[in-house]
Amino acid sequence: MYSEIAAFTHQHHVTLVAVSKTQPVEAIQALYDMGQRDFGENKVQEMTEKQTQLPDDIRWHLIGHLQKNKVKYIAPFVHMIHAVESTELLTTIQQQALKHNRQIKVLLQFHIADEDTKYGMNLEEAIQLIENVRAIPFPNIILSGVMGMATFTENMEQVRKEFRHLKNIFDTIKSQFFPNDDAFCHISMGMSGDYPIAIAEGATMVRIGSAIFGARN
Ligand SMILES: *Cc1c(COP(=O)(O)O)cnc(C)c1O
Repeated sequence: MYSEIAAFTHQHHVTLVAVSKTQPVEAIQALYDMGQRDFGENKVQEMTEKQTQLPDDIRWHLIGHLQKNKVKYIAPFVHMIHAVESTELLTTIQQQALKHNRQIKVLLQFHIADEDTKYGMNLEEAIQLIENVRAIPFPNIILSGVMGMATFTENMEQVRKEFRHLKNIFDTIKSQFFPNDDAFCHISMGMSGDYPIAIAEGATMVRIGSAIFGARN
């Protein structure tokens, strides 16, 4: 399954983040040996434990909700943080990235699903956050785009509408705030059950776990 998904995403110039949460390091190493470099985890402790046991050139993506007091554990190595939704969290990431003299890419998470349980901002909240970031310098953060999760449903037309909504949010923010900033380029959307739709609707990055590794326990 991995080879087909990797070929499909490559063909569409989409970055494949292999979501390796709950998978053993051996399974990650096996994919690495096939050329995969981007891996996603949703828990800080699990990610840091795996990171020490695996090759240094893996790009680690933190895809889950992140608490401020845990940023320090991933700041030395994390490549991209997908789920940023507050100025406070951004400020902490800035401080920790500076401490390690590196830059960390971040995505702004949007609430696009028809569910209360999922995290994320609306457009208005995101604009406020971007204005905060522009008022103070955040030199160790690279604002790289947006992220969202569609509703967990069989209704693929609804999922498509939600992805389209996130694409519209991206376009709005891009044209208003980052027209000449090539780094603001990513739309992270699409998982095992819906990634072909996400790609058709403009995803530049997909986060796929079970379709690659098999069902999680
Ligand atoms: C687990 C997870 C995924 C991958 O889910 P699959 O259905 O296994 O592909 C993607 N994004 C986030 C935020 C996740 O937590």
